[in-house]
Amino acid sequence: MSHTYDLFVIGAGSGGVRAARLAANAGARVAIAEEYRIGGTCVIRGCVPKKLLVYASEFAQSFKDAVGFGWSVEGARFDWATLRGNVQAEVTRLSGLYRKNLDAAGVTIFEGRAAAIGPHGVRLETSGEAIAAARILIATGGHTYRPLELKGQELAITSNEAFHLERLPESIIIAGGGYIAIEFASIFSGLGVATTLLYRGEKILRGFDEDIRTHVQNELARTGVNVITGAVFTEIAELANGRRRASLSNGTTLEADEIMFAIGREPNTEGLGLERAGVALAKNGAVAVDAFSRTNVPSIFAVGDVTDRINLTPVAIREAVAFVETEFHGRPMAFDHADVASAVFGRPPVGAVGLTEDAARARGKVRIYRSMFRPMKNILAGNEQRTLMKLVVDAASGRVVGVHLAGPEAPELIQLAAIAVKAGLSKAQWDATCAVHPTAAEELVLMGEPLCHDNEAPA
Ligand code: NDP
Repeated sequence: MSHTYDLFVIGAGSGGVRAARLAANAGARVAIAEEYRIGGTCVIRGCVPKKLLVYASEFAQSFKDAVGFGWSVEGARFDWATLRGNVQAEVTRLSGLYRKNLDAAGVTIFEGRAAAIGPHGVRLETSGEAIAAARILIATGGHTYRPLELKGQELAITSNEAFHLERLPESIIIAGGGYIAIEFASIFSGLGVATTLLYRGEKILRGFDEDIRTHVQNELARTGVNVITGAVFTEIAELANGRRRASLSNGTTLEADEIMFAIGREPNTEGLGLERAGVALAKNGAVAVDAFSRTNVPSIFAVGDVTDRINLTPVAIREAVAFVETEFHGRPMAFDHADVASAVFGRPPVGAVGLTEDAARARGKVRIYRSMFRPMKNILAGNEQRTLMKLVVDAASGRVVGVHLAGPEAPELIQLAAIAVKAGLSKAQWDATCAVHPTAAEELVLMGEPLCHDNEAPA
């Protein structure tokens, strides 16, 4: 064994980089291996480039809205190559910053795959070198799921390829009804691409509050997305003109320039030597860990999407922080996965934290407050988009246990609402907070009368 480290991290994404840096700052000898680009899914092919595409897609509506405010925007044109290039330049800049921060912390970077060869050893694939480490952290994230049994599946792209398309398609069919499907359907349709969303269930965004699901599905359809529910692909074929033809389980066929799968992601556990090292996996293939991100092998840990707990960047980071606190500072810390807020950057954007109405009802009596309104800006704009805000209150304690928002700036608002939910504040305390006028957010402290008390059905 030619090297010895206190910590060897496999995977330089959000969780791995944070753990490596913090452990090195604590005085540990740390190495990190990355087979692709430093930054991981969030920086390279996820949150960051996605949000930049979202910004780009919002301009078309802004140009329309501007007319009611006296502006005329003539000759507006969109150039995909410019956007694609600028987004990739930003990704490269951020990846470079991640590398710089690792270097500054004294972390050794190995470019290439690494796999465990035992509880205290990893092997670098490129050089074959074996390295001894006191602890190993698996932070390899996940990858997009492809239905390999589907005929013609190789003709479809995933979110990975969406950022690098040679040209913007005129039409696209996106399969899925979760975060990625909704976000990319909103992006492409905002950029003027004729977009079809194909979802196997009846209502998109399973797991979100029912009212939000209904609202977002209706809004996508109202803004021109062709939403098809209750169907999946049965075959994909390439036409002579290079377009794709999709056969659906409802007996219809559709044609489009591109087809995209956004039907989930899977943990990256293959080829990591986990079996060899004796690390147990959960049924879904994720690395099984306890609250302290410990696997069944005392010297091997895992954080982030590879553990399939809550697959969000800030969660991976918090898990990494807790791991370093516990293992390198002697202060046992487990990240609390309750009341983690999240956002879907769709049209409209969604922000949610805490219990849905259904989940809260399953626990006890609830009071529901709901407000649907046209944001002030949309009146002069002649924009029909409405904002939905909903508070779920536990009747026994009076605590606000769920906040569900769909409308402009919902992702920004939910971050602040999440503080109140996490702090366990009551509806009375929300109401004691004076409104900021005129804002959409003031509605959150002005919802006087509940829509329904206790376990009555909502109005
Ligand atoms: P999601 O789990 O959010 O959604 C997957 C979707 O695909 C669901 O609608 C699911 O349907 C459907 N689906 C699953 N399997 C099949 C299948 N075999 N055939 C047809 N449809 C199928 O996954 P995503 O890929 O959208 O995103 C992965 C994760 O990444 C998210 O869960 C989230 O944790 C994270 N993410 C977060 C973002 C954010 O914070 N803004 C953005 C992007 C990703 P059903 O509902 O019926 O199961």
